[in-house]
Amino acid sequence: PVPVLAVVGRPNVGKSTLVNRILGRREAVVEDVPGVTRDRVSYDAEWNGRAFTVVDTGGWDPDARGLAERIAAQAEIAVSLADATLFVVDATVGITDADEEVVKILRRSGKPVILAANKVDDERAEAEAYGLWNLGLGEPYVVSALHGRGSGDLLDAVLAVL
Ligand code: GDP
Ligand code: MG
Repeated sequence: PVPVLAVVGRPNVGKSTLVNRILGRREAVVEDVPGVTRDRVSYDAEWNGRAFTVVDTGGWDPDARGLAERIAAQAEIAVSLADATLFVVDATVGITDADEEVVKILRRSGKPVILAANKVDDERAEAEAYGLWNLGLGEPYVVSALHGRGSGDLLDAVLAVL
């Protein structure tokens, strides 16, 4: 069976953009209005000749009450179905309560987690990712899903645990 990678994180951090970057094609729906991705959508992906399934997650109304809990609940389902998780954080925003909730779920799962610090579009923004070490998930892989910056190193790290 092909290994499964779940991509989780708050609305608007760039999960779907990153999934498209992984796929090398625009298939996952990216929206300036957060919350458009359906709960879970699976895609066939390949990196360095290895096939895997990547699962984009979403489907939350960002204005809903108890958003952090909803995101965490959705992450829990996705992670339970996956072999490893790609946790995406917006480095320009930093760590939020919802991020902390998701981290608890990821820890509990006992499965490998790779941390992506997204929206680091240029070198100047790299410093913003240092604070993400505080999540306790190890090295934040600094990427710009929009421009493709760092995505190769990120995928190497993902495949190493998948
Ligand atoms: P999702 O809700 O987590 O799936 O986020 P989306 O992939 O739909 O992206 C939300 C918004 O963030 C869109 O306007 C994207 O163009 C933007 N975005 C995604 N990745 C990046 C990035 O690396 N840099 C910048 N500047 N914007 C990004
Ligand atoms: Mg999305």
